[in-house]
Amino acid sequence: MKNTDKIDILGITLDKVDYEMALGKVEYFLKTEGNKTIVTPNAEIIMQAQSNQKLKNAINNSDMCFPDGIGVVIASKIIGNPLKGRTAGFDLMVKILQKVNQNGMSIYLLGGKPNVAEIAAKKISVMYPKIHISGTHDGYFAQSEEENVVDEINKSGADVVFVAMGAPKQEIFMANQRQNINCKLMMGVGGSLDVISGNTRRAPVFMQKVGLEWLYRLILEPTRIKRMSALPLFLIKVILGNKGK
Ligand code: UDP
Repeated sequence: MKNTDKIDILGITLDKVDYEMALGKVEYFLKTEGNKTIVTPNAEIIMQAQSNQKLKNAINNSDMCFPDGIGVVIASKIIGNPLKGRTAGFDLMVKILQKVNQNGMSIYLLGGKPNVAEIAAKKISVMYPKIHISGTHDGYFAQSEEENVVDEINKSGADVVFVAMGAPKQEIFMANQRQNINCKLMMGVGGSLDVISGNTRRAPVFMQKVGLEWLYRLILEPTRIKRMSALPLFLIKVILGNKGK
């Protein structure tokens, strides 16, 4: 059985890290110069990357690729290089917020529908009073406005930028702009600002623990069925890909 610190699933290289190891890396990123990026692909995003080379490159060129969701855990077992257990991008974001709070650093929230980032910022300020919110911006700007958004982030002087525009937009934004944004860390956080602002709810903890968070989201948002059909296809692809090895 392989036991490296990385795992390749359908051409996507993921770090075999649990929360503690990921936070160790985050601490290092926050102390060193240069803008580091974290992405948290799940099965659905790995499937998207099969037909989107820009997304694939953006994920594989990130500084940390944190595995999200039960699908990647099952895939890692099929491949014979098991991940330590289920991890979620949202939970890593919360742990990073705790760390940023301890350090009294600043964050910028980019993404979500108008006002979502502002509401999330207010909630974060209450929960983590030592965090400085340096700015917010919704995630529905035109390509022609991207440069202004980057300027705004830079003027804000944020240490950490949470990019909540969903895949592939957030991963490609971070890959394209990492050289232009002067922060220490950028992380793609999908719909997390919707959860923090109270727009959507996370599954109850027992469902998260048994790997059924996807089912909860499906019950709340039945229109996700099309996106979620990627999960069985993903597992079939992993099984077929592993047969010849
Ligand atoms: N979003 C955005 N800009 C866009 C498209 C989406 O800011 O052009 C936001 C959307 O409002 C939502 C998030 O990105 O808050 C994506 O949420 P989803 O639950 O789809 O993310 P996931 O974590 O599943 O990738």
